[in-house]
Amino acid sequence: MCVPGCEQVVHRALSRRGFLHGTGAAVFAASASSLAQAQAPASFRAVVDLTHTMSPDFPTFFGVPGIEMQKQFDIKKDGFNLYWWRLIEHAGTHLDAPIHFSENGATADRLDAANLVVPLAVIDVADKAARDSDYLLSAQDVADWEAKNGRLPDGCCVAMHSGWAQHVANAAKYAGKDTAGTFHFPGVAPAVAEWLMRERRVAGLAVDTLSLDHGPSKDFKTHTLWLPSGRWGLENVANLDRVPAAGARLVVGLAKVKDATGGPARLIALV
Ligand SMILES: [Zn+2]
Repeated sequence: MCVPGCEQVVHRALSRRGFLHGTGAAVFAASASSLAQAQAPASFRAVVDLTHTMSPDFPTFFGVPGIEMQKQFDIKKDGFNLYWWRLIEHAGTHLDAPIHFSENGATADRLDAANLVVPLAVIDVADKAARDSDYLLSAQDVADWEAKNGRLPDGCCVAMHSGWAQHVANAAKYAGKDTAGTFHFPGVAPAVAEWLMRERRVAGLAVDTLSLDHGPSKDFKTHTLWLPSGRWGLENVANLDRVPAAGARLVVGLAKVKDATGGPARLIALV
């Protein structure tokens, strides 16, 4: 995706490097997104870690440890330390790749790196979520964000800040499972996902809860709309209260594993 003004920047960059001669539009287009992203973060004042620390105790959707670590080598005995990990792809702070809810969508290794460094738009619904554990990010929330901050920037990640990250040490509250086995935590309304796909150019959706869909969802409608469209999702995002509503840039440091449907990610915001 090309942010406003990037065609000119790319054109200048390519001209300088003398690459324009004999190259077709396809090459130009392919280079454009990477160059645009490379140009964009000209400067930043602070780095904010949007990643929770992963451990076997981290709450998971499946209720089993998202990671198991076995110490295979120990420095006292072997001269170095090394664990073998057994991981659930979708546990802790992680990315959902399009293939997670589609037959032929992109796997984690096939996501374009330029699409993993994006403007970050944070929509704060913490007050509403505090009153309603099943809160759904609404069209009105998006409209309110745009009224204050302007149109969602092309190629951005839209993040729901529900305040749920503060509950992460309390697995019962974080997952909110009731006696009938139904989860209770906030998520993104399917209608909002649909609207963002149709009306804006958004690269990814992020939530500070276990799932893009809110806890009670049985059909995972937001997942089934969003991921097959080629967009990605981020779940269990931390520290969204430490970044501005607009203006930060998100770097998704995703493990690059062949055929993966997602995976652990170190999320870094440049503010
Ligand atoms: Zn996931």
